[in-house]
Amino acid sequence: MNQVMSKPVEALPFEDTAFAFAHKSDRELRRSHLLFSLMNNPALVDIGARLAEWAFRLRLPVGWLVKNTIYRQFCGGETIDEVKAVIRQLGRYNIKTILDYGVEAKTTEEDFEHSAEHLQKTLDYAADDGYIHIVSMKLSGLFRFALLEKVNRMEGLDAAENAEWQQGIRRVERICQAAYNAGILIHVDAEHSWIQGAIDRIAWTMSERFNREQPIVINAVQMYRKDRLAFLEASLEHAREHGYRCAVKLVRGAYMEKERARAAAMGYPDPIHNTLEDTHNAYNRALEFCIRHIDEMYVCNATHNEDSCRLQAALMAQYKLPPGHPMTATAQLYGMSDNISYTMARAGYNVEKYLPYGPVQEVVPYLIRRTRENTSAGGRMSRELARIRMELHRRGDTKIQS
Ligand SMILES: Cc1cc2nc3c(=O)[nH]c(=O)nc-3n(C[C@H](O)[C@H](O)[C@H](O)COP(=O)(O)OP(=O)(O)OC[C@H]3O[C@@H](n4cnc5c(N)ncnc54)[C@H](O)[C@@H]3O)c2cc1C
Repeated sequence: MNQVMSKPVEALPFEDTAFAFAHKSDRELRRSHLLFSLMNNPALVDIGARLAEWAFRLRLPVGWLVKNTIYRQFCGGETIDEVKAVIRQLGRYNIKTILDYGVEAKTTEEDFEHSAEHLQKTLDYAADDGYIHIVSMKLSGLFRFALLEKVNRMEGLDAAENAEWQQGIRRVERICQAAYNAGILIHVDAEHSWIQGAIDRIAWTMSERFNREQPIVINAVQMYRKDRLAFLEASLEHAREHGYRCAVKLVRGAYMEKERARAAAMGYPDPIHNTLEDTHNAYNRALEFCIRHIDEMYVCNATHNEDSCRLQAALMAQYKLPPGHPMTATAQLYGMSDNISYTMARAGYNVEKYLPYGPVQEVVPYLIRRTRENTSAGGRMSRELARIRMELHRRGDTKIQS
């Protein structure tokens, strides 16, 4: 694989907070400021996360508190009807929505069927809505986790397990078929490495069926894993051999601590890069690989890292691709990195916001991941908090230090 070039990047004024937060009133911005200030404290986040899990388990009436604070920052609403306003608001700035029914950690066939039906309904809704062109799908929400683990280990399944597996595959087929019919893309989220092999296999099988004319099934690739550059090359090779478009969502990866802890406890080599620098290098090389092969690929640069977005712009300029090239996109999570999303959209890039929705209680695991991501790293203020402070200060809020 080529070295990633280091040439000057396109001017993308990510520090222009006036533009990035123009859609937020002073009151909304102050509310976000309070929330991110609280999340900046790791001890507080840890206690809060435990308390929330405990309170929901005991069915204490804390839903209203969560809904009016952290849920409002990171989620669209409890039903599709509730999220409409958010989708429209993003659309006004040329930002499309990746709709995610944020229900996680389900265990029964009934739950899985329910999730599949919900996804199909979401796709029906998306088919009629110009601003949603992606729906996301977590395979651990459609299969029993232990079954995914077993398939991942390539162990033989008994008759009952095999029937359960086939039932799960039919659920995924139904969803992909609905996406194909509606012309809506499906992001297959990347998860823990001990089930990811099973997920990749399903994603490749579905891609082979549905990505023949255009990308429909988009498989996520976590570049914090040491083996993922080789996997990316293998993905393109597989697509070439089987005559479909290789479509990927590049992410760094969200489960680093769990991955490292499991590897240490079970005594196998840590699958995650040894340093953050190594992860950044792998990510950059993956992005370069995708843009270089864009005639055969689709890539979504899913990140909150400004350098990765500048790199996307620079690579697209180097390979003479217009910013709005239909086989490229960048994506950020709703409630985070508006300065990237709004700036890239204004510059003409395809921008998407990942927007979870669903009952408050059900999206708690997702919300806990977001709070942990926004705690201070090494005592530094989180990126989000720094940007919000800058904007409040610019608006003349003298109590806020920029
Ligand atoms: C739209 C969208 C969709 C996403 N979908 C998924 C998904 O399907 N699956 C998934 O797992 N994640 C997903 N994520 C989360 C993503 O993987 C990252 O956790 C998150 O975006 C932070 O990474 P970053 O690229 O913004 O960059 P940065 O904040 O620059 O990098 C932080 C990341 O670097 C890595 N890292 C940090 N410290 C080290 C270290 N010491 N050594 C090695 N690596 C390190 C970790 O992956 C960490 O998350 C998604 C993110 C977005 C924006």
